Amino acid sequence: MKLHEYQSRQLLADSGIAVPEARLAADPAAAAQAAAELGGPVVVKAQVLSGGRGKAGGVKLAADAEAAAAAAAEILGLDIGGHRVARVMVAEAVDIGAEYYLAALPDRETGRLMVMASAAGGIEIETVAARDPDAIRTVGCGVDSGLAPFQARRLAFQLGIPSALLGDFVRIATALVDCLVENDASLVEINPLVISGDRLLAIDAKITIDDSGLFRHAQLRTLRNPEEETATEAEAREAGISYVKLDGTIGCMVNGAGLAMALLDVIVSEGGEPANFLDVGGGADAGQVAKAMNLILADPEVEVVLVNIFGGITRCDDVARGIVQALAGLPRRVPLEIRLVGTNQAAGLRILRDAGLNAHRDMLSAVRAAVALAG
Ligand code: GDP
Ligand code: MN
Repeated sequence: MKLHEYQSRQLLADSGIAVPEARLAADPAAAAQAAAELGGPVVVKAQVLSGGRGKAGGVKLAADAEAAAAAAAEILGLDIGGHRVARVMVAEAVDIGAEYYLAALPDRETGRLMVMASAAGGIEIETVAARDPDAIRTVGCGVDSGLAPFQARRLAFQLGIPSALLGDFVRIATALVDCLVENDASLVEINPLVISGDRLLAIDAKITIDDSGLFRHAQLRTLRNPEEETATEAEAREAGISYVKLDGTIGCMVNGAGLAMALLDVIVSEGGEPANFLDVGGGADAGQVAKAMNLILADPEVEVVLVNIFGGITRCDDVARGIVQALAGLPRRVPLEIRLVGTNQAAGLRILRDAGLNAHRDMLSAVRAAVALAG
């Protein structure tokens, strides 16, 4: 789950990281009001779930309330990375001495956490990585231990942080890791972290929360932004179904993420193109199967549906009945190829064949039949 800058900076502030004061505004008048309240020059920033706002004209400095209203009028309605700007954040403008990049994220290779930092702040880190990978410093730490102060100090020396700001930097870097862990985030990024006078300030923040951790964060769940998901993705999430749209024509319904991945591999190796990844979850009962079918068929590109179910705890006859029942209420008809094995397999296959459906006992023959139908 991606958070807007205004939401992310609140989480940073909650972790004790200094951010300039700011207000949210949905129209130029509100932006002027916010600027007047903040006093002095402000920066008006598009709130969209996309980076590179500065380059796209979504970040503007404004000297006073009138200029803030004008900046907001220019930014609101812009299209940035495919997202329309509906709100701006008006923040106290700060003088910038130097810009740094600082982020915390899980390190999948080591199963630990990682802090990434660079003195080339203000530029997207992907660009820095491509241009000058040596400009990026990384340090690993444990989930429970967090970043040790000595590690943060070493990072500060590598970045060339002035010694007067060493203590601040250590506090910010360690707080960043705590922020990642406490919120079950998959990324906490400050770009740039700036030297402003005698202070270090986070003037841009980007946080992504791991969806799998959201069940234990009621407060964070309220921050979800509807524009992040398509209607189908939202429907899938509410039904407890993992659904990712892909570009092909073969709709896939599978129980289990590993089996779903294996199916996609086999489809591709047989020359087909999957239309989606879909894991119906544990109990593939009639209701769940119907929901999954509806999600798959909502994609107009789907020409054939391939069902791949392994009945472990789930019984094949229950799944088969679920499929037959679900078919009755579907929005449109497409050919169906079904691979069903496991507990009560014979009964399941009989139910499918009695209903006139193509049932297979092995995955490869089901995939080949689907690929042939998808043309
Ligand atoms: P992004 O382009 O989406 O990453 O948006 P940022 O919030 O990072 O802003 C882009 C750039 O605008 C920053 O790297 C800064 O150089 C500049 N900027 C943002 N806020 C301020 C500010 O308060 N004062 C000054 N002088 N520049 C700012
Ligand atoms: Mn930025």
